Amino acid sequence: MPHDQVIIIGGGASGVILAAQLLRRESAGAPHVILVERDAEIGQGIAYGTADPQHLLNSRAANMSAFPDEPAHFCDWLAQQGLPDDDEGFVSRGVYGRYLQGLIADARNLQRVQGEAVRVEERTEDVVVHLEDGRRFVGDAAVLATGHLLPRPCTQGLVTGPWDAVVTGSDDRVLIVGSGLTMIDHVTSLLEAGHEGEIIALSRRGLLPQVHRAARPLQIDSAEIPFGKPVSSLMRWLRAKVAAADRAGVDWRSVVDGFRPHVRAVWQSLPQTERKRYLRHGAAWWDIHRHRTPPVQAERVERALASGQLRLLRGRFLGGTRGPDGQTVARCFPPGETAPVDLAVERIIDCRGIRRDPLENPSALLAGMLARGQARIDPLRLGVEVSAACRLIDAAGRPASRILCLGPVTRAAFWEITAIPDIREQAADIAQMLTPARVRHALRVVAA
Ligand SMILES: Cc1cc2nc3c(=O)[nH]c(=O)nc-3n(C[C@H](O)[C@H](O)[C@H](O)COP(=O)(O)OP(=O)(O)OC[C@H]3O[C@@H](n4cnc5c(N)ncnc54)[C@H](O)[C@@H]3O)c2cc1C
Repeated sequence: MPHDQVIIIGGGASGVILAAQLLRRESAGAPHVILVERDAEIGQGIAYGTADPQHLLNSRAANMSAFPDEPAHFCDWLAQQGLPDDDEGFVSRGVYGRYLQGLIADARNLQRVQGEAVRVEERTEDVVVHLEDGRRFVGDAAVLATGHLLPRPCTQGLVTGPWDAVVTGSDDRVLIVGSGLTMIDHVTSLLEAGHEGEIIALSRRGLLPQVHRAARPLQIDSAEIPFGKPVSSLMRWLRAKVAAADRAGVDWRSVVDGFRPHVRAVWQSLPQTERKRYLRHGAAWWDIHRHRTPPVQAERVERALASGQLRLLRGRFLGGTRGPDGQTVARCFPPGETAPVDLAVERIIDCRGIRRDPLENPSALLAGMLARGQARIDPLRLGVEVSAACRLIDAAGRPASRILCLGPVTRAAFWEITAIPDIREQAADIAQMLTPARVRHALRVVAA
């Protein structure tokens, strides 16, 4: 076995960014990396595999470098490729997938393995990663970068998953469940394809993501922030901050972007009851201000709303059924109604987003870890529990010595850990822990 070998499970954005960060640590000595990815392509994951050029990044190019210490890395790559490199611009997600692939395309010290990891065995001196097809890989440490859990496959073919190909007739009446960024992607794709039928976007609150405008993050001192206070106090504080900024001629986006780096610490300061309250009452509001739409997409959506082709509907989606005439019927419960309402449509697309109960459709890897007591799910069912140093926590509350977690898989502990700027920072911390000397002597020397 080569010394200082790190096995990364998951070759989406998180896994690739960690691999790239580990492999460029020549001076500190780069470990040998094995990258295990279920799919044929790496670097794409859930977000960057789309071939549709209408699907844009929802962050400016300037914020999408894979390296926190080289913020211009992505824009420089765009320029090298002869692509528009306006750092205030929004490039397509497929282009970003190509950037990620390029990060490790020629890497020495990297073994790319296609297959599904189903078990990670932690032993005193090493870890063994078992693949579905029986192959085994031994390393000094394993990192779970398994990302977002996919929704359970949709029932009876009546509801199309958010990342499945959607085929519609141009006059069809389409229901999109959800009104966030994935809904906006689908609406722009439909319009681009010449769709003329009605599109209904159904969501509980009927909120649309806000639009990006040029804004510099406001410097917010952590001493100002009411850590550990009830969510209602936090929201009041944030609103007052926005109002004060507004009086000073500063856009609310600057406040939201300035607050973002503190979100992790705020989340960790909240007791479970307040986290729960936030998820129920604050998260939807925060999300539409924090995850914003590129202006070009927002304009298309606005035009479709103004023309009446796109309609926003508030209500809870109850499911799809087949009507007696063979037509698809979507059942929903709008607020104020006393009984469910049926909508006859040709197509239902589920765009309810990525915040899923990890037990709804667990992977074989996660299900096995839970069954063996190697991992446990947090009380709010957001994901596996990890320590402050990103080590997987077992059913008895003990942090693993050789299994770390990266990216959205750690959201129970850190919450705001889905976007690239957060993931690359976390990857840098993990890469630091995984320098060869530390890997060899296990991660025991590092804080839990
Ligand atoms: C539609 C969409 C758009 C987004 N746009 C942006 C954006 O513009 N800017 C931004 O900063 N963030 C964006 N995000 C946030 C996104 O969460 C992250 O940027 C990033 O995709 C997370 O990558 P990941 O590798 O952790 O997870 P994923 O993308 O989910 O990738 C995980 C990978 O692990 C593999 N895998 C899982 N389990 C196993 C296993 N057992 N064995 C082998 N392989 C396994 C999967 O096949 C997958 O390739 C977007 C998210 C979505 C859903």
